[in-house]
Amino acid sequence: MPTLAERDHAVLWHPYTQMQTAPLPIPIVRGEGAWLQAEDGTRYLDGISSWWVNLHGHAHPHIARRVSEQLHTLEHVLFAGFTHPGAVELAEQLLEILPPNQARVFYSDNGSTAVEVALKMVLQYFHNQGQPERRTFLCFRDSYHGDTFGAMSVSGRGAFTAPFAPFLFDVEFLDVPVPGREAEVLAQLDALAGRSDLAGFIFEPLLLGTAGMLTYGPDVLDELLRRCHAHGLLCIADEVMTGFGRTGRLFASDYLTELPDILCLSKGLTGGTMALGLTTCTAAVYDAFLSEDRLKTLFHGHSYTANPIACAAALASLELTRAPACAAQLVRISTAHARVAHELQGQPGVRAVRHLGTVLAVEFAVESTTSYFSSLRDQLYALALARRVILRPLGNVVYLMPPYCTTDAELDLLYDTLRAMRQLVLNPVAAS
Ligand SMILES: *Cc1c(COP(=O)(O)O)cnc(C)c1O
Repeated sequence: MPTLAERDHAVLWHPYTQMQTAPLPIPIVRGEGAWLQAEDGTRYLDGISSWWVNLHGHAHPHIARRVSEQLHTLEHVLFAGFTHPGAVELAEQLLEILPPNQARVFYSDNGSTAVEVALKMVLQYFHNQGQPERRTFLCFRDSYHGDTFGAMSVSGRGAFTAPFAPFLFDVEFLDVPVPGREAEVLAQLDALAGRSDLAGFIFEPLLLGTAGMLTYGPDVLDELLRRCHAHGLLCIADEVMTGFGRTGRLFASDYLTELPDILCLSKGLTGGTMALGLTTCTAAVYDAFLSEDRLKTLFHGHSYTANPIACAAALASLELTRAPACAAQLVRISTAHARVAHELQGQPGVRAVRHLGTVLAVEFAVESTTSYFSSLRDQLYALALARRVILRPLGNVVYLMPPYCTTDAELDLLYDTLRAMRQLVLNPVAAS
């Protein structure tokens, strides 16, 4: 009898996976709290919230109950010409907690589609007002906004986008204003900002995930947004990863005084239960689409727009996120992270430590070649798995992004894994 992993290998094609060389996937059959249980009974601690989506733990009973009730009430209805309670209630509740200038919610399916909708809102905002020449986006050189073509176009160019390069639209890149480089990046913006073709600026606020958990400060972001606004650009905060408490506040935009015009949410939106994305905007953006002229309509939608089951999961997760117990968990995790950041900072083998809210990243010091580099990445990944911990290094950066229910003892398992990784970096196994 073939195992589940072998059956998988015969028929499936996994994301970001070189299927010829990848080891067989680990079959997971259950989840509870911060743990995932494999078919053979082995339990793994989910140190990265299953690709940044899980907030309150796996198979959370409260979310499960609400989703189950919804399944028996209304599973789906088309969202043009019809509506349903979950979609309305979720939008009402989100607008209560999002930056106060946000006025409208547009639903889609995932982070990439939330970004596509945001980009189309900006382009058509200018189109509807007779300024179609405003069509160029600004973005950060190392940013990641998703894998669809528009989202790829406003993301950093690299190995992942190389095969599609001729089909990505042109953008203007700014460097990430990491500490010490703020003035330089503001000058880069000033050199571009007078151009009449600029339409919008899209950014991951305060924390660039895929770039290696790069952090930068709210003051420079405020200043970038102020200068973009002064030139009439619309600013899009891609909070797909940073939303719902990851940075220590409910949204990374809560650290800002100059507010974005458009915001993208997904990942933690349903607590990691269902695929759902949404894009919110100000009344000014929304109003530019109101007209007797049907051609000014935002012609975008997906079959599963505002799926009621996904909305139920999001409402249930939001209840947990807004409870005082969750705020206490965020403080507890952030405080514990800060202690370990302090401990590891400046240690041999560690080039940099970055910490924001519930995210802790350690950039290990690696001298030499690419082959050594990628082999180290695989060794770090294997080291974590051998300790029954799921961490996926981004090159030489290892980060923790645990679900908020992760206990102090479980955090210690994650921290011990980081310490063991540092030892591995200091005493590497010879590169193959
Ligand atoms: C993951 C991510 C996306 C893409 O979301 P998907 O749901 O994977 O399409 C977009 N932006 C940011 C900042 C992300 O972290």
